[in-house]
Amino acid sequence: MKKPEISFDSIPSSAVSKTTLKICLKCAFDVFTKQLKLTPRTAYSELKKHVPEEVDITGAATSRPHFADQPETDHCPYCNGAKRWFAEFHAMRIDASPSFEKDRKKLWAALKKQPDRFTLWSPERTKMQIFSEWLERLNRSLTFESDQWLLDAAVSQIRRSAPSNDWDNVLSSGVRRVQLSRQVEDGWKYEDQWLYVSPALYGDVIMVQHLLSRSHQHGGRTFEGRLTFQELIRRLRRIGYFEAKGIDADDPYEAFEQAIARLVDSGPSAVYYAVDRKDYLAKLKSVYQKKRDK
Ligand SMILES: [Zn+2]
Repeated sequence: MKKPEISFDSIPSSAVSKTTLKICLKCAFDVFTKQLKLTPRTAYSELKKHVPEEVDITGAATSRPHFADQPETDHCPYCNGAKRWFAEFHAMRIDASPSFEKDRKKLWAALKKQPDRFTLWSPERTKMQIFSEWLERLNRSLTFESDQWLLDAAVSQIRRSAPSNDWDNVLSSGVRRVQLSRQVEDGWKYEDQWLYVSPALYGDVIMVQHLLSRSHQHGGRTFEGRLTFQELIRRLRRIGYFEAKGIDADDPYEAFEQAIARLVDSGPSAVYYAVDRKDYLAKLKSVYQKKRDK
């Protein structure tokens, strides 16, 4: 009987990152049949258990027979094998927050009923690590050539500050500008493609922009222009950011550190991975059957 497809839509999209990882089944079989001299049948039963590691998925250390999903790749980077040897893993990473933990648990319960197809794990992470990894992913997803990244980074931070699927509806006609406003209640208000945000949220946006761009040439760029560290702190003070966040440190470095701590602390607290092996298992089977019938 065909099981209904499981939907990940209950999880706020700002909390999910999806990665497609490719594997070359020619390379994968060769390890067992050529190097270890095992029969195709044994190789198949071993390979059925295979799950890529987190470092393969993130790209931190993608190793043979895995490689990153890129549209122009039509031959295996290791053995030059043709596309028909390729299979895909679809990895979903969820940066979990208490606000949608109920939905996450429900989803996981459904995924657990298909243990062959879905591999689940939860790597140990501190909140600071989760924050840094989010910044890294955001950094990779942005193009810094035009100023559009400032807006994209701002919207990412705002969505992340209150993970919800409502954002997709609210912001469906796009955001042209993020505007500091002392009048908004509950942090933000959206009107005519303008997103009005409170000093606390606006300050968080400026902080994130500063963190993202400081590793780049001509770094320190924000909605408030290009700022040195001292200028950043002065600007944040002037908009009432530290006050809004209850930070009363006089020393700029200490104020900055406390602001980072608040930003990190208000963020996700755990990481969950679900790796969908559907495509992989199907292709593996068909490659094995062709090998066997030869
Ligand atoms: Zn290969």
